[in-house]
Amino acid sequence: MEAGVSRTPDARLIGLPDFPFQSRYEEIDGLRLIASLTFEGYGPSILPATAIPRFLRPQFRPVPVVGLPRRRVGVAQRSRGLPSAPTRALLELLEAVVSDPTDLPDGLAPASGPQVIRRRLAGGVTAPLKIASGCDRRCAFCAIPSFRGAFVSRRPPELLAEAQWLAASGVRELLLVSENSTSYGKDLGDLRLLETVLPELAKTEGVARVRVSYLQPAEVRPGLIDVMTSTPGVVPYFDLSFQHASGPVLRRMRRFGDRERFTRLVEQVRQACPEAGVRSNFIVGFPGETADDLRELELFLSEARLDAIGIFGYSDEDGTEAATFADEIKLDEAEIARRVDEFADIAEEVMAQRAADRIGETVEVLVEEALGDGRYEGRAAHQAPDVDGSTTLLADRPLAPGDLVTARVVESAGADLVAQA
Ligand code: SF4
Repeated sequence: MEAGVSRTPDARLIGLPDFPFQSRYEEIDGLRLIASLTFEGYGPSILPATAIPRFLRPQFRPVPVVGLPRRRVGVAQRSRGLPSAPTRALLELLEAVVSDPTDLPDGLAPASGPQVIRRRLAGGVTAPLKIASGCDRRCAFCAIPSFRGAFVSRRPPELLAEAQWLAASGVRELLLVSENSTSYGKDLGDLRLLETVLPELAKTEGVARVRVSYLQPAEVRPGLIDVMTSTPGVVPYFDLSFQHASGPVLRRMRRFGDRERFTRLVEQVRQACPEAGVRSNFIVGFPGETADDLRELELFLSEARLDAIGIFGYSDEDGTEAATFADEIKLDEAEIARRVDEFADIAEEVMAQRAADRIGETVEVLVEEALGDGRYEGRAAHQAPDVDGSTTLLADRPLAPGDLVTARVVESAGADLVAQA
């Protein structure tokens, strides 16, 4: 097929910029699957360059897409090396796209260029809403700015229109996503636009909760904490991207902060809202990380008592500054794996303690699924979809997915809760 595929009737433009690949290997699997669809009667598969790891790009041919000037796409060119065990979730998502394409509503579809089809890739009562793309920061370990480019915010009317579209399809919780949500609006001339747009999104008819993901600790300001802890419909949930707690490691990562500053920030959030949820990710095994650095991280984790913690082992990403660091300061894979294991254990213990602290608390649970026998699966305000724990709701009345139910926490298991409606 020719590359000008965006104009051919059987071409598919598949956008997966926020698909939560857990690892490079899963990403490769998913991309190979997309390639395989090309050769299984689905027509050419086209995907945004942002979904293609740099080291796989030589296998794709970039083509400009009319109507989407900021994007370039790659076309799967060959069928070699197809996966034996494709990522199941991605297969389901892609099948949903190709089997039931839905036109974008007016105002969201580009006015010209190829017809853009769109379908919610997953059902359910929560959905991501992308508020911006790209990143102007330059963290030493991260390749995102090199392929997503500068930070670009979507305009509020576009977000509100998409929120209404999602709500009309049954979405009750919006998860605002971007590479850096605290920067939302800075390219539109308003550094505090998130504070304005959050209450507006929360007013969307049918939407019960709005949640923000990915806040840069360096950019969190008092006014934002205030809006996120006092606006009806906006959950007091702080997804703070700390990445480490040792000042020297953070400087080498070209990031802000240290243990004291991060502790103060968490305290500030909890002063505004004691029950606020706080989550963060951390990288261990960054080049040059010492025993003292690890002690700082351990101390921070035990002091901050976060609700959800992700621990990741450092690995070189092509095109990043950290990949060019001297081999002498890089740790071998076995040592990084050992540090990941050690801190994953610490993280589990901290999360379990924090969940146990919530016993007796009143929580608002968004029901996602009936489990039978008066039990329902859902998430309290401090639990984001997919990445955090969940809450099992015990109810003596029938509930439906999408119900927002007040309940009292009676038990915890790891980061998960059991609550009585
Ligand atoms: S880690 Fe986040 S803030 Fe840093 S460069 Fe990557 S996307 Fe930007």
